[in-house]
Amino acid sequence: MTGPGELWLPGLIREPSANSDERPAGIEVDLLVIHNISLPPGKFGGGYISDLFLNRLDPGAHPYFAEIADLRVSAHLLIRRDGSARQFVPLDRRAWHAGVSSFCGRERCNDYSIGIELEGSDEVPYTEAQYRQLHILTAEVRSLFPAIAPERVVGHSDIAPGRKTDPGPHFDWTRFREAIAHRGGGADYISES
Ligand SMILES: [Zn+2]
Repeated sequence: MTGPGELWLPGLIREPSANSDERPAGIEVDLLVIHNISLPPGKFGGGYISDLFLNRLDPGAHPYFAEIADLRVSAHLLIRRDGSARQFVPLDRRAWHAGVSSFCGRERCNDYSIGIELEGSDEVPYTEAQYRQLHILTAEVRSLFPAIAPERVVGHSDIAPGRKTDPGPHFDWTRFREAIAHRGGGADYISES
């Protein structure tokens, strides 16, 4: 087992984000939260998501960016449209992805969860490559944190209802849950393209 702040997955691009901190002492990571994000909203490609998580988003590059450039947010992992993945926060640290949230009556989901962002929106389907990578990364995360039972893999909309809608109506939960069930805890890890 690695020490605190060292849990980086092999084979992924690492972009360490300052928007993270230590988890509360003694916490068990037992929740996985699926999100979507696109910057500007509905536009894919480019490096703006990384820029946001790395606190270097240019507020002048788009009107929307001026509203969000000062946000201090992150996620552990991001899967882009081509299926390539990058990691911003070591899995043993707390990323700032969930905001005000609760799961089964327990608040502050950031304390005890892993956050995976899919580059996408509520308006369009995700790509095949994204599902493939998500299945692999989910298996990897669950092998590291076995307390993340299948029913503890949720959407942001599940833990912040009324405030958040992601990953949205196009996310195929049936397919994803079947993949989780069939893969079990062991990951056939493949490095990104
Ligand atoms: Zn979200």
